[in-house]
Amino acid sequence: MEHAVQIVWFKRDLRVEDNEALAAAAAAGPVFPIYIVDRDWWAQPGMAGRQWEFVAESLDSLQRDLMAAGAGLSFATGAPVEILDRLRQRFGRVALWSHEETGDAVSFARDRAVAAWAKAKGVVWTEIQPAGVQRRLKTRDGWAAAWERAMARPALTVPALVAAAPPEGRLSAPVGPDPCPQRQTGGRAAGLALLDSFLGARGQHYRREMSSPLTAFDACSRLSPHLAWGTLSTREVRQASEARLAEVRAAGRRDGWTGSLTSFLGRLHWRCHFMQKLEDEPEIEHRTMHRAYDTLRGPGDAAFLAAWRAGQTGYPMIDASMRALAATGYLNFRMRAMVTSFAAYHLWLDWRAFGPTLAALFTDYEPGIHFSQLQMQSGVTGINTVRIYNPLKQSQDQDPEGIFLRHWLPELAHLEPKALHAPWGLADYPDPIVDHAKATRAAREKIYAVRRQDGFRAAQEDVIRRHASRKGRNDRRPRRKAESAQSEFQF
Ligand SMILES: Cc1cc2nc3c(=O)[nH]c(=O)nc-3n(C[C@H](O)[C@H](O)[C@H](O)COP(=O)(O)OP(=O)(O)OC[C@H]3O[C@@H](n4cnc5c(N)ncnc54)[C@H](O)[C@@H]3O)c2cc1C
Repeated sequence: MEHAVQIVWFKRDLRVEDNEALAAAAAAGPVFPIYIVDRDWWAQPGMAGRQWEFVAESLDSLQRDLMAAGAGLSFATGAPVEILDRLRQRFGRVALWSHEETGDAVSFARDRAVAAWAKAKGVVWTEIQPAGVQRRLKTRDGWAAAWERAMARPALTVPALVAAAPPEGRLSAPVGPDPCPQRQTGGRAAGLALLDSFLGARGQHYRREMSSPLTAFDACSRLSPHLAWGTLSTREVRQASEARLAEVRAAGRRDGWTGSLTSFLGRLHWRCHFMQKLEDEPEIEHRTMHRAYDTLRGPGDAAFLAAWRAGQTGYPMIDASMRALAATGYLNFRMRAMVTSFAAYHLWLDWRAFGPTLAALFTDYEPGIHFSQLQMQSGVTGINTVRIYNPLKQSQDQDPEGIFLRHWLPELAHLEPKALHAPWGLADYPDPIVDHAKATRAAREKIYAVRRQDGFRAAQEDVIRRHASRKGRNDRRPRRKAESAQSEFQF
């Protein structure tokens, strides 16, 4: 009997290397690789042209790689169920393969619809879990050890493909253009070049240079959009970094590399740790992890949101960061945390109100990391120390000479470094939108009032049980004290 056609549905795994769904499909029979442009998904407020353009470049690169492997990529636009059903009718016997996506509510609903269709039509859909995140996880106990095992398995090589049919269809953009002049380039080659330059040179002082926006754009790996859209797998990056760490250790180098690579490897772990939270509790896209905070902030002031988005708050470090983000699609972690803390505490905006605006500015938008971090930096998880960044202090500490500020705020460029941090009345630049001391005092009081409510502790225990990392505690008991101390990054 003829083999069934193995449809390989590419999502956020735009590569042929270390792609488990592609490898398994290729072993089962002739393949029909396809990318479906789902307009409903792209129409969401967190999606933007910068992400699409990165994806389109990555699809170009994927097309070349698939052609070289033996089966080109087809494109279709529309509802996945309808497109997949047309393929079923055309090919007769089909099987469906994809990676298992930890996505937002719209992609979850889409996947549930595809699962129902597959069941009704007798199509076997095999979703393969990408290394690092687990579906239907019962407990976080043992999670870190399982992560280590998944990361240690050899990365898969490119399978030889037999094409079930020639590639067809054309890509059509689901979102309008989105000016982002310094956006990162998509595609596998760009991702590999970044990995190479980071491990070979740029990453040497990563640990020391990751926080200042002056150094971070170069000293951080910049791999986030490649990991988010899957031109590189987390496992590939992890294995290359481990190999490099072994090399510098063997050479006995004491020049920054060991510490930097160790920190970087930690971030790769956090990536999956944060995504696991959304996988375990998809509701955190719309609800606070600790439900006592759910209605704390209310709709917020639209004028504040607009000023923050435009980089017109009157706080130079906030404004420079937001303008840098708009132009590059990127910010380092510290500055992301700072602009979020400013929106959440100083401007008292709800993370659900400004989160999509922020997501749409990130080329690397990754729902699992994004929602968890938004909640954490807004103080609504219930188990982290409330961390409110002082934008003036950040500006003086991270950019004492005002180089970053001058670059992104040309209206302040004529000022002396000292005046740059507090330029009010000296340039055509807004006064502070709120008073730092007053706004943050009020925010703190409101947050702590919630913590004193009856039942707060019991619900807090639930959040810890469900989401907290057990790392460093024999991987069994939830961390508690250590977690709040480490609030900057992880819990
Ligand atoms: C409010 C907020 C929203 C965020 N939204 C996103 C998002 O949508 N997509 C995204 O990829 N990252 C997000 N981050 C996490 C982090 O800021 C970025 O991953 C990082 O700045 C990307 O730059 P890089 O690749 O140069 O990172 P590097 O410092 O070189 O780190 C390497 C990789 O580790 C992972 N990583 C690094 N820091 C973190 C972290 N704190 N939590 C989880 N994973 C991490 C990322 O995959 C990153 O690419 C967010 C952070 C905050 C505070």
